[in-house]
Amino acid sequence: GTGTDSLAVTDLTVHYGGVCAVRSVALSVAPGESMGIIGSNGAGKTSTLKALMGLVPRSSGRITLGDTDLSKVRARDMVRHGVGYVPEGRHVFPGLSVEKNLLLGAYCRSWKGETRDTLAHVYDLFPILRDFRGRAAGDLSGGQQQMLAIGRALMSRPRLLLLDEPSMGLSPKLIENVLDILVRLRSEGLGLLLVEQNAKLTFGVTSHCLVMENGSVAMSGTSEELAHDERVRQIYLGL
Ligand code: ATP
Repeated sequence: GTGTDSLAVTDLTVHYGGVCAVRSVALSVAPGESMGIIGSNGAGKTSTLKALMGLVPRSSGRITLGDTDLSKVRARDMVRHGVGYVPEGRHVFPGLSVEKNLLLGAYCRSWKGETRDTLAHVYDLFPILRDFRGRAAGDLSGGQQQMLAIGRALMSRPRLLLLDEPSMGLSPKLIENVLDILVRLRSEGLGLLLVEQNAKLTFGVTSHCLVMENGSVAMSGTSEELAHDERVRQIYLGL
């Protein structure tokens, strides 16, 4: 569907003990749209994604994807509901081959023919993964492992993809590469929610962004507007 597959989040709040890490965050992502969350270290970006996925407990929050109430879905069932997640730090299985890692991403899909098509699509997006499909994932470079982590998330054919700091540790050239892929995925109708410390990169691939500070949304707007905001330019773009 179209608008019916939108992610809508309101009043998302996370506490760790007595500390409020995420405070009443609201956001929405339509299919083919990409939303960014920028902010400095500790602003609450990762906790926001983990709370969406059900990986940390929520104090409050209403989360829907189309007609589905995701706030009732357990983390391990999210993929079945069309939500892909690429965690910070990649977490590929180092001892397994590239192809085994990718096939594990399709574990919830039963139809083998469809899995073969999806694998071919992922290899088209990341030709290097096809070249290295028999290698142990642990032998890939950091950038290649990041591509593998994204590819693995795509194997479940998500409607929405959550990405936590995909640029971390990558060379500028590889960052470009990953950005091109994200733009292509968006144009194929996937919704993207991208968490990044790298504001410049984020503005380049998103239509809208939130700026998080101390667990709250401090600013929001189109990426274009934010990229021209004086305060954002000083704090997040270093200009
Ligand atoms: P980073 O860029 O480092 O990932 P972030 O913006 O994603 O930063 P979070 O990792 O979400 O921020 O952290 C938000 C706040 O919650 C920080 O003050 C952090 O110290 C705290 N925090 C994160 N995880 C936990 C945890 N498991 N227990 C207690 N406090 C935590």
